[in-house]
Amino acid sequence: MNVVKISFIVLLAAIIAATNSCSSKNCPPKDKSASKENVQAGDGKMKDKVVMTDDQLRKKLTPEQYRITQKCGTELPFTGKYYNFKGKGKYVCVACGKELFHSDTKYDSGSGWPSFYEPADSNDIQLLKDTSLGITRTEVRCAHCAAHLGHVFNDGPPPTGLRFCINSAALKFIPDPNVPDQNIPDPNDK
Ligand code: FE
Repeated sequence: MNVVKISFIVLLAAIIAATNSCSSKNCPPKDKSASKENVQAGDGKMKDKVVMTDDQLRKKLTPEQYRITQKCGTELPFTGKYYNFKGKGKYVCVACGKELFHSDTKYDSGSGWPSFYEPADSNDIQLLKDTSLGITRTEVRCAHCAAHLGHVFNDGPPPTGLRFCINSAALKFIPDPNVPDQNIPDPNDK
């Protein structure tokens, strides 16, 4: 196989990976998150808005959590602490603590990121148009504090057909108290 063919295959693989992954190069300011261009979840209103200063966020979050939730960063696939985690409980926003997803809707998408077919409550997430990487995708943020969580795609399983592709570093797992002896990852791990 010649160099041109190999380069083409590598480029094609990169494009396919980008269009299906959580990765993002664009992080619109939080004060633009209510613009008309954006797709809104639920009734489109921010609920119990949580405002934290940049200093408070830097103190509360690890550098990795800060990079992903505040700068629209992305963890590498198959590296996050929750992508293969099957514990029973709920996942809250690592920044503000609001419940976002539940383990009952988590499934193995094979993408390398934690995947859910629906949020705990659509009013707790905010959906934004993301045109970074030269394609149009839908970014998922916490509707309470605007933390970047990941993206949502239309290739999920029933009953919604949606795949919420979420960074582990944007979440904190809270175990179901009725399910003892769960081996819970350290929330401050990558
Ligand atoms: Fe939040």
